[in-house]
Amino acid sequence: MLYRVIDAHELPGLVQAFMRDYEVIAPVRSGKSFAFEAVSSFDDIVLDYPTTLTSLKKYYLPPRETLFEYDMADGVTDYRMEVRPRVLFGAHACDINAINALNLVFEDPRYPDPYYEAHKKATMIVGISCMPGDSCFCHLLDAGEVRSGYDLFLADIGGRYLVSIGSVEGADILEAACDPREATDEDRRAFRDYTRRRQRAFNEEIPSVQEIPMLMDAFHSDDFWEELGSRCLNCTACSSVCPTCYCFDIRDVLDPSGETGRRERVWDACTSPQFALVTGGHNFRPGTRERVRHRMYHKLNGFNAKHGRYLCVGCGRCVKACKADISPIEVLKFFEQKGIEDGDRDAD
Ligand code: SF4
Ligand code: SF4
Repeated sequence: MLYRVIDAHELPGLVQAFMRDYEVIAPVRSGKSFAFEAVSSFDDIVLDYPTTLTSLKKYYLPPRETLFEYDMADGVTDYRMEVRPRVLFGAHACDINAINALNLVFEDPRYPDPYYEAHKKATMIVGISCMPGDSCFCHLLDAGEVRSGYDLFLADIGGRYLVSIGSVEGADILEAACDPREATDEDRRAFRDYTRRRQRAFNEEIPSVQEIPMLMDAFHSDDFWEELGSRCLNCTACSSVCPTCYCFDIRDVLDPSGETGRRERVWDACTSPQFALVTGGHNFRPGTRERVRHRMYHKLNGFNAKHGRYLCVGCGRCVKACKADISPIEVLKFFEQKGIEDGDRDAD
């Protein structure tokens, strides 16, 4: 990986350079929260934002997307998707890791997804370092740092940025817009101090639990899941805000004339009661216990078994979105408690 340093006052010029050829999507203030939106000026961007309410997945997997159109007389209309070249400027490490996880699913060579691919091809990413909020636990799930999946990554080291260069396109734009220089020993020391400060800033009340997938298997039938599920309101807010929830439904929408229509892909959620309902009326996950447990298993167990990484990046969005206090943090706390109880029994 190649590193360079730029001064903070060069950042507006970098954004300006991107604006020449790309739509710039960046964090902005949105009511009491923050959101990623297209911006037309560097002044609109808030770079020291806490986690945004919704994630970046909508730029790769839109909430509603036409896959193709059809005409009863002529059959399927060839559908071409045009995505304007864009840059996601100011993405946090956890959110880039989330996109890296989505890539594993939608770029699976057995079932490549051309729609996702088109969005990805048109999108550059400039990441930025962050300080964790109270609900952040990315560091516990190996998502607090990001090693790939970006074009540039800016680490704030006080009045200047240590820039990690991830692509030739990113390097070219950086070179053209700024005056990047080699990192000095002082820059490296500043980066080390920043990473230590960041590590210390994580909420220590969120426990780190070793072997979480194994523990989940061991306690698959524990009453904990019944209690957790009994609180679920089926609202699906957790899946909507989650940067890695990627379930979708396919729907045919016929126009009122009955002559034309389109096939759409829309977000779905495994916490929805209808999600596992099949023709004939059988529901594979009929209760909230099964649905909440399934979601947590996919995040902390099943995806890991298949892809070698967690599907939860510890962004904390569902922690804030769930009105019933159901989140992976609850699961980590439960298994930490189990570990303490087992330790007590061993001591007896
Ligand atoms: S877990 Fe929480 S956010 Fe998710 S569906 Fe249930 S109540 Fe809604
Ligand atoms: S499960 Fe919750 S904490 Fe984990 S990635 Fe999804 S929204 Fe973030």
